[in-house]
Amino acid sequence: MNNETKAHCCGAAPSTALRLAKYSVGVGDRFGLEAEAQLRACLLLGEQGAEVIPVWNKSNREHMLVGSEPAGVLAAAVAAVAKLGWRKPWHVDADHIRLDTVDRFIPHSDFYTIDVADSIGRTASAEAVEAFAERHAELSSSLSIPGIDGALSITCAEVARIAGKYLAAAREAGLIYRHIAQARGEATFIAEISMDETDKAQTPVELLIILASLADEGVPVQTIAPKFTGRFNKGVDYAGDLERFGKQFNDDLAVIRFAVSRYRLPDNLKLSIHSGSDKFSLYPVMAGALRRHNAGLHLKTAGTTWLEEVIGLAESGGAALDLAKGIYVEALPQINELCAPYATVIDIDPEQLPSAQTVLGWGPEQFAGALRHDPSRKEFNPHFRQLLHVAYKLAAQRAARYQAQVRLCRSNIARNVTHNLLARHLQPLFLPPA
Ligand SMILES: [Zn+2]
Repeated sequence: MNNETKAHCCGAAPSTALRLAKYSVGVGDRFGLEAEAQLRACLLLGEQGAEVIPVWNKSNREHMLVGSEPAGVLAAAVAAVAKLGWRKPWHVDADHIRLDTVDRFIPHSDFYTIDVADSIGRTASAEAVEAFAERHAELSSSLSIPGIDGALSITCAEVARIAGKYLAAAREAGLIYRHIAQARGEATFIAEISMDETDKAQTPVELLIILASLADEGVPVQTIAPKFTGRFNKGVDYAGDLERFGKQFNDDLAVIRFAVSRYRLPDNLKLSIHSGSDKFSLYPVMAGALRRHNAGLHLKTAGTTWLEEVIGLAESGGAALDLAKGIYVEALPQINELCAPYATVIDIDPEQLPSAQTVLGWGPEQFAGALRHDPSRKEFNPHFRQLLHVAYKLAAQRAARYQAQVRLCRSNIARNVTHNLLARHLQPLFLPPA
């Protein structure tokens, strides 16, 4: 974000459109206290030779659960940028917004994740489907896409079926995009389209048809979050078939490059990976494909930083450790309620959760060791980690005490937050091999 983009109220669009850089990382922060530690990870990565642009993201759902405001996300980012003297671009993402939730983000965000997952499968009219198929005769002929082995042969019936499934979502994306453009001014913001919060993964052919329909709607999408094969559980590694994921990721990159030239979409259009934190087994697969295709990526994270906050509290011992334990002990009996909003991205085996009594007896190292995402350590417990991942609402319920402790434990927390983003996420994905 910069001064020109913030001056939306004067109605003057900047001469060039606001563009998202090739590599970017979405960083979320439940309580707005970690922006500096997050930005430091980008700064250190820059010194090591890779440019990754920070995007502070927070969804409406998270604002509601925590009781925070979009203005606070911007203020925290502004302060961190000033403190560390960050001179490259940065953005603030109104994450997973819809028409009914976007308005309060407009003065504070220059990046909008337009969530149209709910409109997938909403029936489009037969005329609309027919018009789409006529407009896109190229789709139902034998399509050769560089980077995908063999020609894609999509039948007319398949084009109609897929268009029927996604046209309403594309139309909704257009509606929301134009609503934001009218309020802020064209070209003053970055549009992401997200379809990830749905049950079924989208195939590369579906992605192609989605992109064609977004182009028809005039949405200058710069980043798109499809639903990938396998499970992207919060705060833990990928659960699924790595080879299948690799093939889908590769083919999606090829489809995007094809769609950019064929449908005149923004040439920086790239994939966005939601629930992208902690997917350690995917990073080498993605890094290899990105290099082969010379493609960009937006990796969206959020809760991984909140968990590092809790690790820093635990490591500090005393009242801070007691606070961390208290959150877990309170979360245990509320597990169903806490997990409900995250049904498709949480996978906890209650049998594997340590009892309240056990955890109350833990020292700083034991608690931090169970929580820290280091699969090589026998004390690491992914079930414990996932439950704490969704338990941030309980920290919000004791916000004053929680935030006071976070401030007291600043150096332990900042070290963990920065190290987690830099060493476990940014370096494996974005740093060129030595
Ligand atoms: Zn998402």
